[in-house]
Amino acid sequence: MAEIQAWASYGPTQQLQRYVYDAPPLAAEEVEIAVEYCGLCHSDLSIINDDWGMTRYPVVPGHEVVGRVVSAGEHVKGLKIGQKVGVGWNAGSCMHCHQCLGGDHNLCLSAQPTIVGHCGGFAERVRAHWVWAIPLPDDLDMASAGPLLCGGITVFSPLLTFDIKPTQRVGIAGIGGLGHMGLKFANAWGCEVIAFTSSESKAEEARSFGAHHVVSSRDNAALLKMANSLDMLIVTVNLPMDWAGLLKTLKPNGRLHVVGAVVEPMPIPAIDLIFGQKSVSGSPTGSPVALASMLEFAARHHIAPQVEHFPMSRVNEALEHLRAGKARYRVVLKADFD
Ligand SMILES: [Zn+2]
Ligand SMILES: [Zn+2]
Repeated sequence: MAEIQAWASYGPTQQLQRYVYDAPPLAAEEVEIAVEYCGLCHSDLSIINDDWGMTRYPVVPGHEVVGRVVSAGEHVKGLKIGQKVGVGWNAGSCMHCHQCLGGDHNLCLSAQPTIVGHCGGFAERVRAHWVWAIPLPDDLDMASAGPLLCGGITVFSPLLTFDIKPTQRVGIAGIGGLGHMGLKFANAWGCEVIAFTSSESKAEEARSFGAHHVVSSRDNAALLKMANSLDMLIVTVNLPMDWAGLLKTLKPNGRLHVVGAVVEPMPIPAIDLIFGQKSVSGSPTGSPVALASMLEFAARHHIAPQVEHFPMSRVNEALEHLRAGKARYRVVLKADFD
C-alpha cells in the first residue's frame, strides 16, 4: 500500500479537504505519475456538485494532469520513468471492445473517467493506464499544458473527426475556457474563424485568440447576417441558446457541434435540418491518438491556453474563482504537497 496525499470533497458543494488514501499495488498496465500541475475544469465542479448523478464521494477532482512517470507496471509500453506525460478525462478503457480496437477509446462504454470511482489529479500522484498517459512534446510548456488535456482536446477533436479543411469557415460559440482554445486551434488549422459571444467585452480578446470576425450571439439581426456562411459551428456554452438562429448560420451540409453540456433539451427545427441537409452532433474529449496529435499540433503552432495559476493548497479559492465565472480563461493548480 502506498499513501497518496490529495484534496477531496465529501459531498455536493462541500469545500475540498486534505485527504490521504491508500493506493493498492500498481497494476501491470498502469503508470503512477507525480503531479506537477493540474488544470481546473468546469467538469470538476459538476462532479463535486454531483450535477450528473455519477459522483462517488469522497471525490478527488482533477483531470487535466501534467507530471512525470514515477512508477510503471511490468506490462507498460512506450513510457519511461521520468517521462513528461498528461492525463485527461479518461484514465483507462477496456482495450478490447470495438471502440477501443478501432481507435475510438474515448467512446469505450467502460472507459474509466479519471475522477469518477478513481482518484484524480488534485493530488501528489495519480494513476492511469499507460495508453491514457500521453507523452508531452519537449517544447510544450508544462505550466500551461494542463487545460489542453480536457478543454483543448474537446474543441480540437471535432476539427479532426469531421475532416475540416483550411478553406472552410468555422464558428466558435462561447469565448470561455473551451472557446478561447477553439479559436486558437481553428485559426492555426487555417480556417476563417468566427467567434460568437454574448459579451461585448470579449470581442477584442477573441480577435487576439484568432477570430477573424466577432458576432454577438444575442443579436438576432447579426445572426441573420451570418446566414448560410459556416461549415461548422462548435458550441462550447452550457446554457440554452437561440438554436434555430444558430442553425441558420450554417451552409448546406453544415454541422452544429455541441461540446458544452447544456442540461435543457435543445429544440431543433427539423425543417432546417432537412433543407440544407444540416447535422447536429456532439463529442466527448478525444482518443489517445487524437490527444497526442493535438499536443504535437499545439507545440508546433505555439498554442497555449491562457491560464491563471493557483497553488494547489488554495484549491478552494480557485474553485470559487471558477464558480464566480471570473477565470480568464483557465485555472491551473501547481501541486505543493510537502
Ligand atoms: Zn473499450
Ligand atoms: Zn474537463
